[in-house]
Amino acid sequence: MNENGLHLSTLSALADNYIWLLADRTGAAIVVDPGEAGPVRAELARIGLRLTAILLTHHHADHIGGVEELAKTTGARIYAPRDERIAVADVRVADGDMLRLESPDICFEVLELPGHTRSHVAYFGAGLLFCGDTLFSAGCGRLFEGTPAQMLASLDRLAALPGETQVCCAHEYTLSNCAFARTIEPGNAALAARTTQVQALREHGAATLPVTLADERTYNPFLRVDSAEVIAHLDRSGNDRAARFAELRRRKDEFRMPVS
Ligand code: ZN
Ligand code: FE
Repeated sequence: MNENGLHLSTLSALADNYIWLLADRTGAAIVVDPGEAGPVRAELARIGLRLTAILLTHHHADHIGGVEELAKTTGARIYAPRDERIAVADVRVADGDMLRLESPDICFEVLELPGHTRSHVAYFGAGLLFCGDTLFSAGCGRLFEGTPAQMLASLDRLAALPGETQVCCAHEYTLSNCAFARTIEPGNAALAARTTQVQALREHGAATLPVTLADERTYNPFLRVDSAEVIAHLDRSGNDRAARFAELRRRKDEFRMPVS
């Protein structure tokens, strides 16, 4: 329970997705990116919550697979970006929109974040950032439909949010992201500390999220394209940040977690 009287839960879904559930004291709840309905249904029943809204960040099946069933059985309103690949929505959201939900009583700002997909959005409110597949802990989403420059601009917007923001990513990729990040910044003490922490959490099957934006800025290479260590490691001349970002993303695409 945070200072707004809201309780945040992390529901595991599919292979490595997280569905975020936010509930208030009256039992009203919202979910973000329900890739499947089962885990949400179980949690609603377990604590006796009623689902009032479903927020979607992008059209990929692992984020919207459970929407239809949940909307049908609960009557929750669906908020989604303008994209025909998300067939059903009650409210289409766009950059700068302020979503005022009544129960729970929260206001979310919508940020359009092209890069992973062209219509990807994030929801920022109550000190929480639901960023789907744009920003991960120690990593970022793959560029399926956007250019490196677009994704970098999207990450720049997120990096500019308050440091205490709790980043709620849609996947548990932190361990492999840390392993990759260490190939870029082997001397980064914050990254070493995060890696140790993440290893311990994963050994117990615990989530590594949420995480603060302030922490992410200290070790996430995709938020650090202007840091001296990342610049030196990529050995790129000139000041082209987008080229550095593209090179980082390319290396991540080719990275395979070492088998220990
Ligand atoms: Zn995705
Ligand atoms: Fe995904």
